[in-house]
Amino acid sequence: MSQEIEVRSIEVGPLQANCYLLKCDQEGSAAIIDPGDEAERLVHAIKQAGLKPEAILLTHGHIDHANAAGALKDSFGCPIYIHPADRDIVERGESPVLWGLVRNHCTVDKEVADTDEITIGETKIGVLHAPGHTGGSVCYQVGSLLFTGDVLFKGSIGRTDLPGGSDAEMMQTLKTRISVLDGETLVYPGHGPETTIEHEKKFNPFL
Ligand SMILES: [Zn+2]
Ligand SMILES: [Zn+2]
Repeated sequence: MSQEIEVRSIEVGPLQANCYLLKCDQEGSAAIIDPGDEAERLVHAIKQAGLKPEAILLTHGHIDHANAAGALKDSFGCPIYIHPADRDIVERGESPVLWGLVRNHCTVDKEVADTDEITIGETKIGVLHAPGHTGGSVCYQVGSLLFTGDVLFKGSIGRTDLPGGSDAEMMQTLKTRISVLDGETLVYPGHGPETTIEHEKKFNPFL
């Protein structure tokens, strides 16, 4: 089902967020996770790889993950997905200038909920609601791959002190949603290098 999937990571913007390009089948049907900045560079990379984006999936609404979503939607005509709790922040919220970025608002097309499945080509992408960093944080799961946004990093976790964040929710998420996943699950975080659930359970003090 997901054997064909290819993942490419492109670090964008001043906060070095990871944008992931997922090639979901032989024809190049693709999903773009967290286009946070540098829209032109992303469009170029997507075209050069022969990808045909069918969805823009946001792990949460923060500017460093969502700021090029509107531009990519205009370029490829594909819908933007986000959890409803973070919808407002990408459509009209957050300071106009934050963390060195000027906010580009965008219009959300589809809301995601826990256990949803989004089909791109022949690949099914599962949605895991994982609040704590923001109320609408989600992880996207494709077979044994997990895209964690700012919930889980290699050796660390996302901040819980920003608006919509919650320590209690983060602890609950890590305990009931993340730690229970198969150890071999390959984790692609919103910042920094890849890891696995097994590695994090051994070395990450929060897990
Ligand atoms: Zn964030
Ligand atoms: Zn971030």
